[in-house]
Amino acid sequence: MAKDQQVMGSTTDELVELDKRHFIHPTSSPKAAAEEGPGIIFSEGNGIYVNNMEGEAYIDGMSMLWNVNVGHGQKELADAASEQMMKMAYSSAFKGFSNEPAIKLAEKLASMAPGDLNSVFFTSGGSESNDTAFKLSRFYWELKGQPNKKKIIGTKAGYHGVTQASQSATGIPATHTFAGSNIKGFFHATPHLTNCELGDTTDPDYEHSIRALIEQEGADTISAVVMEPVQGAGGVNMPPEGYIEAVRKLCDEFNILFIADEVICGFGRTGKMFGVENWNVIPDMMCMAKGITSGYSQLGGVMISDKIREYIIGYENVMSHGFTYSGHPTACAVALKNIEIIERENLVSHVKDMEDELRKGLAYLEEKHDTVRNCRTLGLLAAFELYNPDTGETFDSSLQAAASVVNACFDRKLILRNIGDYKVAIAPPFVITQEEIKKMINIIDESITAFENTL
Ligand code: PMP
Repeated sequence: MAKDQQVMGSTTDELVELDKRHFIHPTSSPKAAAEEGPGIIFSEGNGIYVNNMEGEAYIDGMSMLWNVNVGHGQKELADAASEQMMKMAYSSAFKGFSNEPAIKLAEKLASMAPGDLNSVFFTSGGSESNDTAFKLSRFYWELKGQPNKKKIIGTKAGYHGVTQASQSATGIPATHTFAGSNIKGFFHATPHLTNCELGDTTDPDYEHSIRALIEQEGADTISAVVMEPVQGAGGVNMPPEGYIEAVRKLCDEFNILFIADEVICGFGRTGKMFGVENWNVIPDMMCMAKGITSGYSQLGGVMISDKIREYIIGYENVMSHGFTYSGHPTACAVALKNIEIIERENLVSHVKDMEDELRKGLAYLEEKHDTVRNCRTLGLLAAFELYNPDTGETFDSSLQAAASVVNACFDRKLILRNIGDYKVAIAPPFVITQEEIKKMINIIDESITAFENTL
C-alpha cells in the first residue's frame, strides 16, 4: 500500500507531523518525539500481530506494554464493551451507587485470587492501584491504632508506576530524578537477598536487605513492603527459590503488610493465574491492572485480605479515596469477558506450555552467540542480556547494545523492548503458537548477528 494512503482522512506523513506538533508522548524523549516523530503509527491488530498504516504486520513480542495478553483483535471484548456501553456506559460507584459488571467482577476476582484476598478496590490502572494499596495499608494501621506505621519499603529495580507515590516506591533511580518524584517515606532494599531476609546478619550484603531497613527505621514506622513477584520494567529479574516466601515470613515477623504488585504477572503471564502462586505465597494486598482487561479497557484494582477488610468496614466516616472510574461498568464488563476467554481457552496452561518453547529458543541463542547470557523465562515473561565476549563485561554504553538488537528486530518486523543498555525483554501475547515462537527466535538470532557484525 502506498505511504500516502488515506486513513481516517490523513496520510501517514500528515499524522507524523500532527503527532510531532501536538502529542506529548509518555515515557519518551520529548525532543526526539518532537523532532523525529513516531517510528510507527499502529492501525490494526490481530492475534500476535500489529499493523502499521501501510498494512505491514509486526509480531508484537511485548504484548505492547506487557498487557495485550489475549492478543489483538478479540471481537468478543469489543462486543462486551459495546453491549455495556449501549446499556449504560458509565455509572458512579460512590456513596450507595453500584453496577452489575463491577459487582460480578469483584465476586469473580475473589473466587480467583489466592487465600483470603476476597475484596477489591477498583482503579483505572497500575499506578493508581499501587497508590491505593499504600494508602489502604496506612489506613489499616491507623484503624488498628498504629498511625505511625506509614513508611513503604520497595526494592531496587522494582517498578510500580508514575504517580508520585508509585514512582517513589519504584526502585529505578532515573525515575526519581524526574520532577522531584521521590517523596518522603519510601525506601528501597536490594532484592533477592534470601538469607539476609531469613535472618543471616553476617552476610556482607545484609545492610542492603529489607530486614536491615526494618531494623534501622523501626517496624513500628513501617506500613508495607511492596514488590513484583518477578520484576518487569526493572529488567525481568526472577526471584531465586525461597525469596518471596522469605519476604512473606519477614513481614509476618515484624507485623508489616506484604503488597504484591501483580500488574504484569497477574492473569497468567507467569504460567500461573497470579505470580505469587509460583511460590504459594498469599500477600495481604495484590495490585492488578494490564492483564485484567488485556488492555482493551483501562482498569486496575487492589485485592485486600479479609483481615484488612474487617477493619476497613468498621469505619463509619467517608473514606476519602475513590476515582471517578473506580468500578467503571464498561471496563468491568470487558474484564469479565477477558477472564472468561482466559479460562475458556485454557490460556494459562497454554502459557506454561509455550514457556518451554521460549526457554529452548533462548538457550539456543545463548549457545550460538558469545554475546548472549543470562537468559531467563517464566511463563511468557523472558529476557536475555548482551555481553562483550572479549571482556566478559557489558558493552560500552555508547554502543547501546540492547537498543541496537531491538532496532534490528524492529527492522525485521518484531517488536521487543530494551531495558537499559544490555537487557532485552520478551513478553508475547498468550495466544502465540510454537511455530510463532520459533519465528520470533529466528528474527532475534538474525538481529543479534547483525549487531555482532557492527562490532
Ligand atoms: N506496576 C508494574 C509492575 C508495572 O509494570 C506497571 C506498568 N508498567 C505499573 C505498576 C504501572 O501501571 P500503569 O502504567 O497502568 O499506571
